[in-house]
Amino acid sequence: MFTTLPHPRATPADLRAALLENPGFGKVFTDHMVTLRWTSDQGWHDGQVRAREPFMLDPAAAVLHYAQEVFEGMKAYKTADGGVALFRPAENARRFARSAERLAMPAVPQALFLQAVEALVKIDADWIPGGEGSLYLRPFMFASEAFLGVRPAEAYTFCVIACPVGAYFKGGAKAITLWVSDDYTRAAPGGTGDAKCGGNYAGSLIAQAEATRNGCDQVVFLDAAEHRWVEELGGMNIFFVFDEVLVTPPLSGAILPGITRASIIALAQDAGLRVEERPYGFDSWRADAASGRLREVFACGTAAVVAAVGEVRHAGGAFPIGDRTDGPITRRLREQLVAIQRGAAPDPHAWLHPVTAS
Ligand SMILES: *Cc1c(COP(=O)(O)O)cnc(C)c1O
Repeated sequence: MFTTLPHPRATPADLRAALLENPGFGKVFTDHMVTLRWTSDQGWHDGQVRAREPFMLDPAAAVLHYAQEVFEGMKAYKTADGGVALFRPAENARRFARSAERLAMPAVPQALFLQAVEALVKIDADWIPGGEGSLYLRPFMFASEAFLGVRPAEAYTFCVIACPVGAYFKGGAKAITLWVSDDYTRAAPGGTGDAKCGGNYAGSLIAQAEATRNGCDQVVFLDAAEHRWVEELGGMNIFFVFDEVLVTPPLSGAILPGITRASIIALAQDAGLRVEERPYGFDSWRADAASGRLREVFACGTAAVVAAVGEVRHAGGAFPIGDRTDGPITRRLREQLVAIQRGAAPDPHAWLHPVTAS
């Protein structure tokens, strides 16, 4: 399905090594990309693994006007045995298909999605950092048809790009501060909250900017109808840790079904903790933090993995979580997940997907 056209002037090894030393997040890109096109008459065609370069896009391309776009975020790791592995990539493929369906876009067959991701990991394998780093993969699809009428487009481009990344939050396991948004919501019932689409992010940026202005790392959104129930961060799910019990908001349709979220639930249950997927109100959050019943809070997602929450700020004040540091449950779950992702611990759920050199 894919024609491979290797980069004629790939980054020299010494420059690549320098870039890999401190890649940050989302700033350094590998040499190649994978592209695939879809048209209503031809379906998926023209698969290429080729040099990463800008797109030629008609100014009337539907994505630029009506935001018909979906994406995924996943990582390839160097594993303890010297190999390379993806973490639960079939889940990303499935979610990508569901997001596409919600945005009235054609599904990329799951096998094709996996082939595209694997092809990029293989050709750019030298870009996978060792140590704490990983290769962040960004599959995405957008409406490329030049047409200003409002209907699902009849031409799409699917693409995968990759960037070597270090730790998402500088300073490693430092606890983050959350801002509870009073003015903005992220998703409404019947909306696109459970689809991974750029439009959700566009609508959340002003709230994230408000969080930053208030000295916070991330914004946390409450539900749109009652403005009471905690939903999630702009790009991460959230967990509340009580004695022997974890609480996380249910997948109501307004929340992105995180693969890290699902993995944490499984690991917690394996460890004998009870996990309750149920609505949790901001009023309870404040009261439980004050009483000390609430031990820890953490956010999770592919990019940052698991980040402890140390403090919560809102228009009416602020409150700390525990002793404001990375708590023992948060730390244990993060370490377990990271160890599995890197092939340094047994993988009882068969989450690792080895990528073999071809
Ligand atoms: C991607 C994303 C997450 C986390 O999902 P993972 O599969 O764990 O990376 C959570 N919330 C939103 C809004 C997201 O876009």
